[in-house]
Amino acid sequence: MANFYLDTPELKHHLNHPLMKRIVELKERNYADKDKFDYAPVDFEDAMDSYDKVLEIVGEICGDIIAPNAEGVDHEGPVCADNRVTYASGTAQNLDACRKAGLMGMAMPRRFGGLNFPITPYIMAADIVSRSDAGFENLWGLQDCAETIYEFANEEQKQRYITRVCQGETMSMDLTEPDAGSDLQSVMLKATYSEKDQCWYLNGVKRFITNGDADIHLVLARSEEGTHDGRGLSMFIYDKRNGGVNVRRIENKMGIKGSPTCELVYKNAKAELCGDRKLGLIKYVMALMNGARLGIAAQSVGLSQAAYNEALAYAKDRKQFGKAIIEFPAVAEILSLMKAKLDASRSLLYETARFVDIYKALDDIAKERKLTPEERAEQKTFAKLADAFTPLGKGMGSEFANQNAYDCIQIHGGSGFMKDYACERIYRDSRITSIYEGTTQLQVVAAIRYVTTGAYLARIQEYENMPVAPELEGLQNRLKSMASKYAACVTQITEAKDQELLDFCARRLVEMAAHIIMGHLMVQDASKSDLFSESAQVYVRYAEAEVEKHINFIRKFDKDDLAYYRK
Ligand SMILES: Cc1cc2nc3c(=O)[nH]c(=O)nc-3n(C[C@H](O)[C@H](O)[C@H](O)COP(=O)(O)OP(=O)(O)OC[C@H]3O[C@@H](n4cnc5c(N)ncnc54)[C@H](O)[C@@H]3O)c2cc1C
Repeated sequence: MANFYLDTPELKHHLNHPLMKRIVELKERNYADKDKFDYAPVDFEDAMDSYDKVLEIVGEICGDIIAPNAEGVDHEGPVCADNRVTYASGTAQNLDACRKAGLMGMAMPRRFGGLNFPITPYIMAADIVSRSDAGFENLWGLQDCAETIYEFANEEQKQRYITRVCQGETMSMDLTEPDAGSDLQSVMLKATYSEKDQCWYLNGVKRFITNGDADIHLVLARSEEGTHDGRGLSMFIYDKRNGGVNVRRIENKMGIKGSPTCELVYKNAKAELCGDRKLGLIKYVMALMNGARLGIAAQSVGLSQAAYNEALAYAKDRKQFGKAIIEFPAVAEILSLMKAKLDASRSLLYETARFVDIYKALDDIAKERKLTPEERAEQKTFAKLADAFTPLGKGMGSEFANQNAYDCIQIHGGSGFMKDYACERIYRDSRITSIYEGTTQLQVVAAIRYVTTGAYLARIQEYENMPVAPELEGLQNRLKSMASKYAACVTQITEAKDQELLDFCARRLVEMAAHIIMGHLMVQDASKSDLFSESAQVYVRYAEAEVEKHINFIRKFDKDDLAYYRK
């Protein structure tokens, strides 16, 4: 019986990070729930123990049910008939197992039926689920949408909807339209208020909506007639029980086939406003997308893990020229780099999750009482870090998942090209991670301001001042030297004061910052646990080469060179 949590000790290492003490303290508010709910923790150790136990259950369900179902789900897929979606039989079984184990609405407060999990262990569950079946993670992970209801809806809506999510109803996030993809300001689905019926009606089309036949939808729609930008958009809740939304079709996709991607037609669909008018995109979707991006970062890490596991097992088993192929340095190097990318992106994922946890818990406390000046400063610091790290985690994590999936196939040789091995599905499933929830290019658009304002460099300098094991000081010094070269590159580009040049170099600058940050995280992890000794060495060497490559490109580049790249 496989357990996808227990067989990966790196997960426990991240769960036991020292910052968890502060996170649990904020999240549990002096353990006030212990008198109301018999399953609420009584102290820090109890809370940590409960996360561990629940993750063990997640690991078991993933190992015993979701992973064994993945191939069948990929083959069978969902079907659309009479405008409604039916999941593949394995998907229905997976959902049922998650519902029975109480894994829906995990991060929601106990008063709604949730487990009040911080983001960090919740994201860990997403990492594990993704390893077993990335397509299923989409359906299960859409419980994230409940977070948006919790943050912005009124109390009565929270009671009505979050309770249902905790009982196992599913959600969807309806943003994209045929003419509004990366540019959500162009959303045109129309929301009209009826004075007579005292409610809103939605009309229009959405496309590429994951789990589009969900029970509860969050919908971005144009509520302000005559507007054309983000300021005319509001967020709505559509309840399938009211009817009015039909699934026109399910897309025929390359990967994550178990996750139905739907085209939806809204025809006078009754909906409720969520939060205030006109803040739909500017405030609520931004918050929703940041949460969802962290979810895709977790999905990417889970896929990287799956790719690494498959590649390692095959390389040990497959013999050529009289020995196992893992013994060839060329194969061993691929595997080492896969593991280093996996470990580094996972470290970045949980660093980001902890930042999100702290600022969100403080935001939530601020609804109950005034924060102290120290708490306000803490909230601001961690909100900024979360905002800066989320696009790095999603952008780099998803690119690494794709690279690891590619390398996994390479290690399988010709067999990897056949449908006989899981690596072929992992390769197809990984491809979407760098596209949805904002493409890698859009993650760079979100991240570049933290390059130019010096926020990444400031954080890098904090890592430089953190103690490390003596044997890792050499690696830390190499990272320091990379950071000074990175800083010089940033100065070169920003001093040119040319927006087109900055846009052109943005991805390279963001990647450099990300490599240095992940290098430091690896050194920190390796200082605490031998699990990361090899990955720290391999990753810093890799990061050094990547940073040097980007520096060489940028150092010899000026704005006149842009002419060669204009199309
Ligand atoms: C399987 C799947 C599931 C999805 N699920 C959902 C869902 O549940 N809900 C939902 O609302 N949407 C969903 N989407 C939509 C998804 O979020 C969009 O496809 C994605 O944001 C990209 O938009 P687009 O496809 O219109 O591409 P476009 O926006 O047309 O982008 C095309 C290319 O142009 C680049 N580009 C665009 N703008 C810029 C820029 N400013 N700078 C640099 N490059 C740029 C992009 O990086 C990309 O390479 C899903 C999509 C898929 C494929």
